[in-house]
Amino acid sequence: MNFDAKRTIAQDIAHHVHPQSNLRQHAEHGPTMITHGKGVYIYDSEGREIMDGFSGLGCVSLGYNNERLANAAMRQMNTLPFAPTFYNRSHPKIAELGARLTGMAPNGMTRAMFQCSGSEANDTAIKLLWYANTARGEPERRKIIGRHRGYHGNTIATVSLSGQPHMHAKFGLPLPEFKHTELPNYYRFHIDGESEREFSARMAAKFEELILAEGPETIAAFFAEPAISGGGALMPPEGYWEDMQAVLRKYDIKLLADEVVCGFGRTGNMWGSETWGIKPDMIACAKALTAAFFPLSALMFKDDLYADMMKNSDEVGTFGHGYTYAGHPVGAAVALEALDIYDEIDLVGHVRKVSKTFLERCHAMADHPLVAEVRGVGLFCGFELMKDAKTREPFDPKLKVGEMVQNFAHDRGLYLRAIGDRMSFMPPLIINEDEIEIATDRFKAALDDTWAVVR
Ligand code: PLP
Repeated sequence: MNFDAKRTIAQDIAHHVHPQSNLRQHAEHGPTMITHGKGVYIYDSEGREIMDGFSGLGCVSLGYNNERLANAAMRQMNTLPFAPTFYNRSHPKIAELGARLTGMAPNGMTRAMFQCSGSEANDTAIKLLWYANTARGEPERRKIIGRHRGYHGNTIATVSLSGQPHMHAKFGLPLPEFKHTELPNYYRFHIDGESEREFSARMAAKFEELILAEGPETIAAFFAEPAISGGGALMPPEGYWEDMQAVLRKYDIKLLADEVVCGFGRTGNMWGSETWGIKPDMIACAKALTAAFFPLSALMFKDDLYADMMKNSDEVGTFGHGYTYAGHPVGAAVALEALDIYDEIDLVGHVRKVSKTFLERCHAMADHPLVAEVRGVGLFCGFELMKDAKTREPFDPKLKVGEMVQNFAHDRGLYLRAIGDRMSFMPPLIINEDEIEIATDRFKAALDDTWAVVR
C-alpha cells in the first residue's frame, strides 16, 4: 500500500469528524483505516483481511471490486459528468433510470425523484406529502408515524421520524409532527403465552390507538421498513403487515415502504415489500441502487400524488424543491449498469440459493448459550443475545455484550454490527457458499470468545 498509515491516522484524528461514532474513543484510539477491498473482503492499514458481514452499511451488494461499474462511471464522466435536472432540463441516463425503476417497482409506481441518500429520499417524501395535502385542502394532515427503534435517516425530519433516542438526545428532537408506534420485536416484547399472530394483532391495535389519540385527519403517512435493519435485523412477526395495512386502509393513511436496505434482493425478492405482501403508496430506495459505487437514491410514487404536485406547481409557477445533484448522470449510469448486472447474474436467484446455507448455519447458532433468538430471511439475519433466553433476562448493559461479539468477530476477521445486544449479519449479496461457511465459523468463534468472558 502506497500510503503512510501513521500519518493518515494522525490526520484523521486531528481533522476528520466521524458520523455516528464515539468521539472520545476516536480521539484516544483513532479509526480502523480501511485501505482497499476485493470481493467480500476489506483490508485495513495493518494488512488484515476482514470479511464484510455487514456489506459496508448494508449497501455493498456486489462486493468491493467491479470493473463494469467502474467503467460505467468513467464512461459517463468522460461524456457528461454533470447535468442539472432543474429548470426542465434532463439527460438520457436519468430518463432511462426513472422508467426502468418505476417499471420494476411493486404496486404500480409511475414517478421517480432522485437524490443522493436514503435520508434525502425520505425527507423528500415527507415534503411531498405535506405539499400534496395542501393541494388537497388538508393542510392539517402533517403527522408522520414511524416506529420506536426505526431508522429512516439523519436530516432533521427523518431523524425525528426515526425512533432512535441517542440520535434525538441533545439535538432537541424529535420535531412535534413525528410520532412513534411499537417496535414489533416478538421475542422481546410478547406476553407469556401470546402467539406471534396475537402479538401482531396487539401491535396493530396499539397503532390504531395512537392514530385515534392523534386524530386520523392529522396523519399523513406511516413510514416503515419491510424488515427493520437499523433497529437490528428484525423480521416482522407473522401477520404483522396484514394487520398494520388493514389499519392504514381503515383510516386512509398512506404507507411509505423504506426499501433503502431491503431493496434489490436482500430478502430473497427484488423488494422487501414483495416478501411480506406490502402494498406501499411510496417507495424509498438507495444503497444497492448503485451497489454503493455512487451516492444515489430514488423516491417513487404514483400519479395521484403527482397530480397534486402539478396543481401546486400550476398555482405557484414552479415545483419549488430540488438538490443540485438530483439525478446525477454518473449515479444514473452506475445504477443502470448495476441493474443490468443484477439481471444478468440473477442476483435474486443467487440470494435465494445461498440463503439456504446462510440461514441454516445461522440457525445452528441458536443453541449457543449467548443466543436467545435467530431470525432471518434471504441474506439478512438478526441474533438476540440474552443472559437467559427462557426468562428473557438481558445482560447488564454495562457489559456491552453485543460490542464484545463485534470486537471478537473483528479479531477473527469478520465485520459484524452490534445494535445493543442484537447482532446484525448481512453480507454482500454476491457471497458464495464457501465464504458463508467461513463467515459463520468466524461468527460462532466470536460467540465462543465472548462466552468465555461473560459465563
Ligand atoms: N432508511 C434506512 C432503512 C436506512 O437503513 C438508512 C441508512 O442506513 C437510511 C434510510 C438513510 O440513508 P442514508 O444514510 O443514505 O441517508
